[in-house]
Amino acid sequence: MSEFRGEVRAWLEENCPASMRTPMPADEYPGGGQKIRYKNPDTRIWMERMAQRGFTVPMWPKEYGGGGLSKEENQILQEELRCINARPAHVGMGISMIGPALLEYGTEEQKQEHLPKIARGDIWWCQGYSEPNSGSDLASLRTSAVEDGDEYIINGQKIWTSGADYADWIFCLVRTDPNAPKHEGITFILFSMDDPGVSVRPIKLISGLSPFCETFFDNVRASKANVLGEVNKGWTVAKRLLQYERTSIGGIGGGSQKSATLEEMAEVYVGKESNKLADPALRRAVLGHRMNDRAFGLTMKRTVENSQAGIAPGAESSMFKYYGTEQNKGRFELMLEMMGPRALGWGDSPFDDQELETTRGWLRSKANSIEGGTSEVQLNIIAKRVLGMPD
Ligand SMILES: Cc1cc2nc3c(=O)[nH]c(=O)nc-3n(C[C@H](O)[C@H](O)[C@H](O)COP(=O)(O)OP(=O)(O)OC[C@H]3O[C@@H](n4cnc5c(N)ncnc54)[C@H](O)[C@@H]3O)c2cc1C
Repeated sequence: MSEFRGEVRAWLEENCPASMRTPMPADEYPGGGQKIRYKNPDTRIWMERMAQRGFTVPMWPKEYGGGGLSKEENQILQEELRCINARPAHVGMGISMIGPALLEYGTEEQKQEHLPKIARGDIWWCQGYSEPNSGSDLASLRTSAVEDGDEYIINGQKIWTSGADYADWIFCLVRTDPNAPKHEGITFILFSMDDPGVSVRPIKLISGLSPFCETFFDNVRASKANVLGEVNKGWTVAKRLLQYERTSIGGIGGGSQKSATLEEMAEVYVGKESNKLADPALRRAVLGHRMNDRAFGLTMKRTVENSQAGIAPGAESSMFKYYGTEQNKGRFELMLEMMGPRALGWGDSPFDDQELETTRGWLRSKANSIEGGTSEVQLNIIAKRVLGMPD
């Protein structure tokens, strides 16, 4: 393993551009795809170099664009990336959600077709699950897909589709049997956002940003070859994908290096006395957060390693989503408490970029309890599927 570490270290030294060893600005998102333009050209270069080495998806098989690394090798790679403060080379729903679902449920043709493109960052994927009257009760969705030869004709509307205005492809839940019980008439299908009949309308937030859209389908034609899993059994794939999503959202809160930022901030805003944070109550709160973060990170790592697929756990992913979300919100609350009036910034001076980003991050963290299924819904799943309590 020390040989592998040496190789990786040398490769990163040579290939990771200096500007990719700095914190990622909030407005740079290496999601890949054909429509996005990066402010910093190194973002694209870094993604391409990592993809060539299979390091954007280090544990996927080599034949699908992955690095074919073992868990131990991947751990070394992640450690070495952290050592040089490297930015993530490529992120998004391709890597964290539809890719793993394709690996688990895809036919060989589907894997060959889609996985290498995801690994290279050629395609930005979006998720067509929620509808105006189907959020928590997702299985009540009504977007219809009617057979026509080798295709389905799709009509309906999705909502809150993150990044739909940049997306190249969508993974979408559609109703193929309106007469079956609601969980049994759903199919999971993939199609291009550039297909005739697909349109998107960005939803503008109070901040002026539009992170998600309304997405409309008007007689969109999707090939039957792009059904993932079995027709009318899409709910099984949909639930599994949510487990990948929830584990990934949970990961934003726990076991990360972000607690170090918390301590650095405490030093700046509160100061130190005899090498300790000056405010004893804050010291306790930061320490408590750090301990919970560490314990959560280790629990999550152990569970993911033990999971059958080696990628994401089953219903336990709801615990991670719930707890990770709370940790992330708690971290931002602590930061804002430290910053005091410096947290009141929204626009220009006298607030610096870091302060503005923290306040925006605090607001954004509230959405963690909603996206990927609300906290209340996670608690229901934990009660039923993890603790085995009656309905
Ligand atoms: C930042 C963000 C990004 C998103 N991105 C996407 C995306 O890319 N694609 C996509 O398809 N969707 C996306 N969503 C939508 C998200 O999945 C839904 O908002 C979520 O599932 C909740 O559905 P809803 O908004 O319809 O709320 P509702 O289901 O109407 O819920 C309203 C309230 O009722 C509560 N509630 C509902 N049912 C129960 C119950 N049985 N027990 C207890 N409480 C209950 C909920 O917890 C919630 O507080 C995103 C949401 C956010 C915030």
